[in-house]
Amino acid sequence: MQYQTRSIVQESLDALMDDKMFLPDLQNGPREKAFSSLGAVLSTPNKIHKSFLRIVLEKGEIVRIPAFRVQHNNAMGPYKGGIRFHESVNEEEVINLAFLMTLKNSLHDVPFGGGKGGVVVNPREFSPKELNLISKKYVQYFADVIGPDKDIPAPDMGSGEREMDWMMGEYKNIKPGQPYRGSFTGKSVINGGSLGRREATGKGVYFTFRYLMSDFIKKQHSWLEKTGSPYAKTALDLYEKPLKVAVQGFGNVGSVTALEAYQCQQLQNKVIAVSDRNCTLYNEDGLDIPTLVSYTAANQGDLPHTEEKLKDSGVKAEILHRDDVLTMDVDVLMLAALEEQIHNGNKENIKAKVIVEGANAPVTAEADDYLNEKGVIIVPDILANAGGVIVSYFEWLQGRETQFYSEEQIYKKLYDKMQGTMETILPKYFGDPHSLRENCYIHSVMKLSTVLYKQGKLF
Ligand code: GLU
Repeated sequence: MQYQTRSIVQESLDALMDDKMFLPDLQNGPREKAFSSLGAVLSTPNKIHKSFLRIVLEKGEIVRIPAFRVQHNNAMGPYKGGIRFHESVNEEEVINLAFLMTLKNSLHDVPFGGGKGGVVVNPREFSPKELNLISKKYVQYFADVIGPDKDIPAPDMGSGEREMDWMMGEYKNIKPGQPYRGSFTGKSVINGGSLGRREATGKGVYFTFRYLMSDFIKKQHSWLEKTGSPYAKTALDLYEKPLKVAVQGFGNVGSVTALEAYQCQQLQNKVIAVSDRNCTLYNEDGLDIPTLVSYTAANQGDLPHTEEKLKDSGVKAEILHRDDVLTMDVDVLMLAALEEQIHNGNKENIKAKVIVEGANAPVTAEADDYLNEKGVIIVPDILANAGGVIVSYFEWLQGRETQFYSEEQIYKKLYDKMQGTMETILPKYFGDPHSLRENCYIHSVMKLSTVLYKQGKLF
C-alpha cells in the first residue's frame, strides 16, 4: 500500500529547513543533523504491539486473528487513535494511520499523541457474541499499554460504541481500582460517552467544507481576488453558486456528512449521488438523504441497491456502479470510505473542483499532485476529519471532570476548534504555492518539532 504521508513529511521538513525563523537555536548546531533526526522520529513509530487473538467461534472452530496497536508518538500527550476492524488491515497501514493521528492531533492542538489499532476481521462475518470475544481479547492482550494517560483507543472503521463499551468493561475488570473512564472514547452516552461523538466526524467534515467555501471567502473576498492563487480562483468561481455534491461512503461519516449537506441552509448544495460498497445512487434533482439514513439504519447499513429495495425505500434514484460516484460531473466530492480511492487509474476522470477527505488517505500521492496542479482544492484528512478525535478529547475531559456538556456545547466547542485551525492555515494556503495538505503538514510538523526540541529529543 502506497502512502503519501512520509514523502509529504519530508517535503514539510524541507520547507522548514528553508525557514530560518524555525527553531533558530538549531542554527548554532548542525541544522541538517537535527532535521534528519526529526525525520527519523516522525517516520518511525515509538512502539508496535502485535498479537494473534485466539477465539473459539460459536460453532467450536478456533481462529487466530492478527491484531495490532501502534503507538506512533506521544510528545504531545497520551497516544490516541481508533481501532479498525477490517479484513484488509495490515501492520504497514496501521503504522501510517497512527502517524496521521500524530499529525492530526498536533494540527488541531488536541493534547494527544498518535496511535492506531487494527484487527484483521470482516465484522459482518462474525456474530455479536464472537465480536464481543474479539473485543475483550484485544483488551486482554494490550491492557498493559492502554490507559487514560497512556494510550486511548476509539472507534474507527468497522468498530463503534458497542465495541468501545465492551472494551472499557474488560479494561475495568483487568485493571481493578484504576481510573477507567478515559481508557476508551467513543463509548455510548450512558456508559460515559459524549453527546455528539457519534456524529462528530461527519459534522466536522461538512463544517470544514462550509467554512472554507463560504464563511472564509466572505471574510477574505477582496484579498482572495488579489492573491493570484489557482486555489483562490477555484474557491471564488464556486462561491455562492449552487453546488452539486457526491458523497462516497454512507457509514458513520458519509451518512452524517450527506445529511449535513442536505440540511444546510447557508450553501445551496444538492447531494446528487451517494455510494456504499454495493452501489451508487444518483438523482440529478437531489437525493432524499433523510429517508436513505432511516433506510440504512434499518437494513444493516446498506443502501437500497436493487430496484425492488429502492422501490421499498421510496427514494427516487438511479442505481449505478459503486465507483461511478467518483467520476461524476459534480462540483464537490466528499470521500468517506476507504484509502486510495482516487489514484493513477482514475485521477484524470475526476471532475470535482473540491475534494474533501472524510476518510483517512483516500487520495494517493500521485493523484494528489496531479489534481493540485489542476487547481482542485483538496481538503486533507487531518484537517477535515478531526471532528471524531476532537470530541473524543471532550469525552476524555468529561470523564475526568465527571460532568457532561450538552450536545449544543459540544458542537460549539468542536466548531470553534476547527475554525481556529482553519483561521491559521487558510491564509497561508491561499497565499503560497503549497497545497492545503502540505500547509497542514508543515504546521503540524512545526509544532511537533518544537515540542520535541523543547523536551530535549532533538539535537
Ligand atoms: N478513528 C478516528 C480518526 O481516525 C477517531 C480517533 C479517536 O477518536 O481517537 O480520527
